[in-house]
Amino acid sequence: MGGVSEFLDIPTLLYTVAAASLCICVSLIVTWSSVRHETYILWWAAAYGLAILTMVLVALRGLVPHFLSVTVADAVLLASFGSLWLGYHQFARLDGDRGWWRAGFGALIWVAMAAATPLLDNMNARAAVLSGIELVYLLFIVVDLVRHYPKEHLPSVALTAVVVGIHAAMQIYWVVVMIVAPLEPTAIVLPNSLAMGLRFTESSLFVVFLGLLQLVLIGQRSERRYRIAAETDSLTGLANRGHYFDRTEDALVGGKDRGALILFDIDHFKSINDTHGHPVGDRVLIEFAAIIRATTPAGGIAARIGGEEFALFLPDATTDEAVEIADRVRRATANLRVAAATGTVGLTVSCGVAGVRETGSDHQALHASADRALYDAKGEGRDRVSIHRSH
Ligand code: GH3
Ligand code: MG
Ligand code: MG
Repeated sequence: MGGVSEFLDIPTLLYTVAAASLCICVSLIVTWSSVRHETYILWWAAAYGLAILTMVLVALRGLVPHFLSVTVADAVLLASFGSLWLGYHQFARLDGDRGWWRAGFGALIWVAMAAATPLLDNMNARAAVLSGIELVYLLFIVVDLVRHYPKEHLPSVALTAVVVGIHAAMQIYWVVVMIVAPLEPTAIVLPNSLAMGLRFTESSLFVVFLGLLQLVLIGQRSERRYRIAAETDSLTGLANRGHYFDRTEDALVGGKDRGALILFDIDHFKSINDTHGHPVGDRVLIEFAAIIRATTPAGGIAARIGGEEFALFLPDATTDEAVEIADRVRRATANLRVAAATGTVGLTVSCGVAGVRETGSDHQALHASADRALYDAKGEGRDRVSIHRSH
């Protein structure tokens, strides 16, 4: 006894964190109510609900039966960690068959150990087993987030991985502390020591910060999803017209003397629609977009800017390099065969190229020049690449 008890009382801290957790839990449920397909939010809310129950039971240690305040409280805590992990697992879209089993195994091991061995009667053994199982869940979360980060670059994903990683490291530290300076093995009420005070402070910070980060994660995911949808052509997945203009104008800021624009227009596309139907026309557009995507070098901006019109801006290419890339797309398109119920569809594309060196770095002028070159390619018989030459 003694230690930090004058300024830090563990039951008071537990009630305070339980109250904060209740706010987080309710906020999560309210957030979920407007994005009901995001079921991982409910697992996080459940984790907070279970954690609140644990905190109240632990705070009542000495006032409620030992079995409730220790064995049940810790089993509930481990179920909370399982639920927490399952939430992150589903957030990262990694939910497979093993999810349920892994979410429940911690609490099950705990209950089995409590029933079958006297080991958990020793407070030190209990704390070590608890920290060990928590550590496994925390590491599961870090692994899931690290695997997920390349697919969804959100600052809150990275920060969550760091925060969970630090809390995982603290679990190892506490196990070492337990071994070096064990507590009275038969103690029931937690000692109000400095070490316990620090441990509960760290855990409280973790619980509150993690909950805030969950709310940030949900918000950042949603913002990113709508931003991508607003910038993407839904049929082909390339940039849409608006995003293409924004990005190309940004890339041209500062009066560069490099860069080139290719405009593509599929030849006689209307007759593909007329012969094979609109859905086949759509598939042709998807396949053509795949050719452009595969041919676009790093840094290139590929977009669908109209029905069967596409653009590829190459910020670092010379006009000659752009002509070479345009011709690669043209040849791949001529070789493309799209199978349809009405027969095999072949197609060609006309391309117009304009370079910044010849036309200047004004985007309107560049686009108009490439468009004139495209018009020339159509007039000269299609299935070819034309270059805008300054006169
Ligand atoms: P040209 O060689 O001169 O370019 O002839 P074209 O038939 O390709 O050109 P035109 O501009 O006359 O026709 C374009 C057609 O593209 C007309 C329109 O129905 C079709 N189209 C536009 N958007 C879509 C789409 O999203 N899906 C499909 N399947 N067709 C589309
Ligand atoms: Mg057209
Ligand atoms: Mg066309």
